[in-house]
Amino acid sequence: MPGKDFDLFVIGGGSGGVRAARRAAEAGARVALAEEYRFGGTCVIRGCVPKKLLVHASSFPGEFRAAAGFGWEVGPCRFDWSRLIANKDREIARLEGIYESVLERAGVEVFRARARVLAPGRVGVGDGGEVIRARHILVATGGVPFVPRIPGAEFAITSNEAFHLPELPRRITVVGGGYIACEFASIFHGLGAEVRQVYRGPLLLRGFDEDLRRFVTRGLKHQGVEVETEAEIAEIHKHGGELSVVLRGGREFRTDRVMYATGRRPQTRGMGLEQAGVELGRGGEVIVDRLSRSSVPDIHAVGDVTDRINQTPVAIREAEAFVATVFGNRPTEPDHALVPLAVFSRPELATVGLTEAAARAQGEVLIYRTEFAPLSEALGGGGARILMKLVVGRETRRVLGVHLGGAGSAELIQCLAIPVKMGATKDDFDRVCAVHPTSAEELVTMRDAVP
Ligand code: FAD
Repeated sequence: MPGKDFDLFVIGGGSGGVRAARRAAEAGARVALAEEYRFGGTCVIRGCVPKKLLVHASSFPGEFRAAAGFGWEVGPCRFDWSRLIANKDREIARLEGIYESVLERAGVEVFRARARVLAPGRVGVGDGGEVIRARHILVATGGVPFVPRIPGAEFAITSNEAFHLPELPRRITVVGGGYIACEFASIFHGLGAEVRQVYRGPLLLRGFDEDLRRFVTRGLKHQGVEVETEAEIAEIHKHGGELSVVLRGGREFRTDRVMYATGRRPQTRGMGLEQAGVELGRGGEVIVDRLSRSSVPDIHAVGDVTDRINQTPVAIREAEAFVATVFGNRPTEPDHALVPLAVFSRPELATVGLTEAAARAQGEVLIYRTEFAPLSEALGGGGARILMKLVVGRETRRVLGVHLGGAGSAELIQCLAIPVKMGATKDDFDRVCAVHPTSAEELVTMRDAVP
């Protein structure tokens, strides 16, 4: 059938899929894309963007409190959850429209339906059994939240539902110690809920530098988030309008909502991938090589479904590298080294490069660290702190890792990732004149390594 034969069929209209489809079409390929839910994917619809809007919303009470020290009298403030959600939804719908029109303008044929791989070169679309032929298939189906199977798990929500709660819960229990859990604990707390964060490990944010992990735990507790580490939920029961949570060991408490943020799983179930010969990993991820090729020729995968670094800019880079390789005749490996990351909790964190522990495992290091109250706190008085840490190779003097905590960390790390990626040394940092008065000036004035 004319028009039903494509050079590329992309499954999934999220960060990776949309970028790949658009770039391939711009390169002259005949491209189709199927999206079963909403264009923009996790990032735009129920991830990075709506989350950041809620982070902004939740930061106002701290500002109102600080304002008094600067001479302002702020009258009684009222927060309207429904208005925030409605405004957020309007913005998300606008962005979704942009994603869709980008595809249409690039000449991508769009299917608003679920798609599955029938065989190499063949995709089934929708329930009607429509079969599409495509020379290349790109799997960009992202991931879904994972909730452990415990009695009462059906009463819990995940980040997906958190964006659409009918009202702000008075009490919420956030389960998990990863970045999404820390961010939502901060959001709900900032908006006025009583928050308990339950995590089975000893310290939040596994994989981050130990100093940042301690910093965020202290910061959350200081604000009033009840952080319970080495605790695990065994059961959840519903009693009328509230939930009772039983921890392993028997302790029990009441809450209005339980939100699980205990990781995400690649979305490969029911996709026909294994039947088509595509090898999946233990977590269900598509196993790919450095060029994002699966075990089947002409089936590629990018983004969270490959479970490499699950961040939007990485999915986009992987998509661009895929298009350069397959449609640009330039084999291109996506660069997964020194990817900067931010956690939009309160306190905010940001990081690039090696943790102190990882760097020490490779050789001798020097550690430069400072922690202080920023100038805004002098009159604001909320107790917020800034942490800055440089991990430096003793012999090479190269800055191997930068770890930041506190206001502005995410914006700063984007710029700091540039010299780190260029291989800057501590002496390069020291040669730069400070900008005064800023918090960031500490980055170029830390003279002595910590003993
Ligand atoms: P996705 O964006 O998930 O897109 C996959 C798409 O495929 C979805 O739209 C889905 O509906 C569709 N799909 C799935 N199966 C099918 C099928 N069979 N047929 C048709 N369509 C299908 N990253 C950051 O960089 N910064 C952040 O601050 C950040 N915050 C986050 C906060 C939250 C709460 C979450 C959940 C994620 C966050 N992320 C963040 C991660 C980021 O959202 C993902 O890394 C990114 O969206 C991955 O893009 P992707 O293209 O791989 O998949």
